Amino acid sequence: MDKKPSIGIVVCIVLIANVSVVLGGNSSQIPSEDRTDIGPNLAPNPSFEEGDSMPTGWTYSPDTNGIYTWDSNYTYSGEKSVGVLNLTNDGYPPNLMWITTDFIPVNCTLNSYQFSAWFKFVTPATTNYATIHIRQYDINYQPLGWGGAGYGVGDTEWHQISHYTGYDNDTKYVKLEIGQEYNTEYEPDPLIEIRFDDVNFSIWNTAPNAPTITGETNGRVRTLYFYTITSIDPNQDNVTYEIEWGDNTTQTTGSYESGEEIIISHIWGIEGTYSVRVRAIDENHAKSDWATLTVTMPYSYNIPMQRLLERFLERFPNAFPLLQQLLGH
Ligand code: CA
Repeated sequence: MDKKPSIGIVVCIVLIANVSVVLGGNSSQIPSEDRTDIGPNLAPNPSFEEGDSMPTGWTYSPDTNGIYTWDSNYTYSGEKSVGVLNLTNDGYPPNLMWITTDFIPVNCTLNSYQFSAWFKFVTPATTNYATIHIRQYDINYQPLGWGGAGYGVGDTEWHQISHYTGYDNDTKYVKLEIGQEYNTEYEPDPLIEIRFDDVNFSIWNTAPNAPTITGETNGRVRTLYFYTITSIDPNQDNVTYEIEWGDNTTQTTGSYESGEEIIISHIWGIEGTYSVRVRAIDENHAKSDWATLTVTMPYSYNIPMQRLLERFLERFPNAFPLLQQLLGH
C-alpha cells in the first residue's frame, strides 16, 4: 500500500465527516445524473464481465483477512460483480479494497471527473460502509493523496455512490478503489458482504475556454471605454467573468449563457500601460485560462518627423527652398 502523505490524512478526516452525513441513506447527492454531456467511461472492465481468475484490470489490496469475490451471485447488470467481506480491525488501513491495476491518465487542470459505482449490502450494514476512493498521482507516478466517499445503508437494495475530483494541476494519473470500511469508533462486522457493479469514471465537467476580449487599446484617461467579452463552455454551462483592469481594480460579473457576448465598461484615471486580464468561471467553479489585452493611456501620436515637416511645408509652400529640395519636393 502507498504511504499516505499528509494530504491523504486531511482528506480522510473529510471522508469520515462525510460518512456521518450520508449514513442516513439517500442518494440525492449525485448531482450529475441530469448532465447529458458526461464523457466516455475511463474505468477498465466497468461491469466486471471480463477476466479469468479475477476481473481484468482490477486487483485487490493485500489484506490477509479479506475475502474477495468475483461471481454472479448478485449483479446490478450483466453477468458478474465483485464483492468483499471479512473486514476486521487488525489491519491498517481499515478497509478492504478492489483497485484498478493501471494508471488512468487525467487532465485535472481542465476537467473534473466523476467516479461512481453501484453497490449493495448482502446483509444490512451496521458499522460497515461502502466506500470509493480516487488515488491521485503526479507526472512521475508518485502518490499525492486520495479523496473518496463512504456510504452506509440499512437495506439490501442497490445504491449508487459517487465522488468528484477537484481541479488539481499536479494530478496526472489516478487509480480507482471500491470496497468496504468501518467507522473506527465501532467494531467492524466481518460477516457483512458488499457487492459492486457498474463503475464509471468519466469527465463530468470541463472548464470554459479562455475568453476573448476586444475593445479600445489606445485611449485617454478619464474616458469611458467599452469592451466585449465572451467565452464558450464545452458543457454549455453558464459563466461569470472575473476581470482585472490592471489598475488594481477587479470586477466579477453576473452569470451569462455560454457564448453570450457581454459589454462592460471601464475608466482609467492615470496615464500608463495596463494589462487587462479576464477569465471565465462556470457554475461548477471551473476556471478558464486568463485572456489578456494591453491598453495604453493616453493615445500617443506617433507621427514620423518627415510627415511633420511635410505638413509644415504644405502650410508654407514657399518657405525653406533648400529643405524642400532635400525632401524631394
Ligand atoms: Ca463546464
